[in-house]
Amino acid sequence: MAVLQMPSPTNPGHELLQSALAQLDRAAKALGLDAGLHRYLRQAERTLIVALPVTCDDGHLEVFTGYRVQHSTARGPGKGGIRFHQSVTLDEISGLAMLMTFKCAVTDLPLGGAKGGVAVDPRRLSRNEVQRLTKRYTAAILPIIGPEQDIPAPDVNTDEQTMAWIVDTVTMMTGKHSPEVVTGKPVDLGGSRGRTEATGRGVAFVTLEVLRRQGTRPDATRVAVQGFGNVGSVTAKALAQAGCKIVAISDVSGGYASAAGIDIERAIEHARRNAQRTLEGFGGVSRISNAELLASDVDVLIPAALEGQITGENVSEIRAPIIVEGANGPVTAEADRMLADRGVLIVPDILANAGGVVVSYFEWVQSRAQFYWELEEVETRLEIYMRRAMELVLAKAKAYDCPPREAAFIVAVDRVASAISKRGIFP
Ligand code: GLU
Repeated sequence: MAVLQMPSPTNPGHELLQSALAQLDRAAKALGLDAGLHRYLRQAERTLIVALPVTCDDGHLEVFTGYRVQHSTARGPGKGGIRFHQSVTLDEISGLAMLMTFKCAVTDLPLGGAKGGVAVDPRRLSRNEVQRLTKRYTAAILPIIGPEQDIPAPDVNTDEQTMAWIVDTVTMMTGKHSPEVVTGKPVDLGGSRGRTEATGRGVAFVTLEVLRRQGTRPDATRVAVQGFGNVGSVTAKALAQAGCKIVAISDVSGGYASAAGIDIERAIEHARRNAQRTLEGFGGVSRISNAELLASDVDVLIPAALEGQITGENVSEIRAPIIVEGANGPVTAEADRMLADRGVLIVPDILANAGGVVVSYFEWVQSRAQFYWELEEVETRLEIYMRRAMELVLAKAKAYDCPPREAAFIVAVDRVASAISKRGIFP
């Protein structure tokens, strides 16, 4: 997955946590939530910070910092990805863990929310170094993860290979074959069919649903997608297949635009063959900057890269009337308010990109049962979960006369708070 470096707030992780808290506060107010429960949900249940020494290929020692934050296990074991990125901080991982709690709740999965990360630029390490780092990180967080405790998955710069290394580490350390400890594994190691594509497919599904409800035909829709990793590329491909015109894409190498529409299959093939796995050198299109991509004159803008991309600073340049959040937290709280005032429809991250964790849930179920589903079954069930969540959120938005983001948090916070109340505070 390509790493993205784009204009962003000075401390995007801190801003993401503050936005997540602000959303929680708003939902708590709308629900008239008990003040104590509200205070409880503002905190993570458990935070682990670990030092990760790695012997590099040339023999010298590097030390990285890793995190695993479990925000809530009220509705089930913690669930959430692990990211490897130089901008990882405790604030960022805490904010993302909170978003996972509400993402799992809005889609009604029997799971809580967690997130992990290592502050590292993996492009600066060799494959063997990344493997050693992953295995050391896994060993360090092993005391708090497990199929009934907390189940990691891929996120930014981690993939099925990373998950395979985690399975190996847990298996070696426990002496028990442990595929159910993570999701997003390779299919031949107990992964679910359709997991890799699930996030992008879900993003495309909600985008097409929004268009359908507005009476807009896909073939009359121009789309810009920021980020061409696992989420952005699959979303772009699925939307192109549905007839949409993808007029701009981007990754760490910059932006690429074509008013006539970009051949997404060719772009994916180009990135696959490129040593850096980026779009660098992709021809037959015009080059634009990432700032220009965000400001594209399109019907739908899909930020599918990192948090903090649409901010108070560039929000006035945004021209798309619909934004679908493929990434977690791509719109800052300030920009969110300004876009809402302008009537821009935002499909929020915890709904829009939930397809990944929905199929992670299916994978967890399959791994525990040791019985694997056909792709068709995964896709049919994914659509059921996405449709149900979307209908519920849009109905709540109507009932509360609020934007979809607030409605999604109202649904989710209500479910999590209700689980805590029914269980009763221990002891
Ligand atoms: N990292 C993905 C997310 O942010 C997926 C998490 C998972 O599958 O557990 O939703």
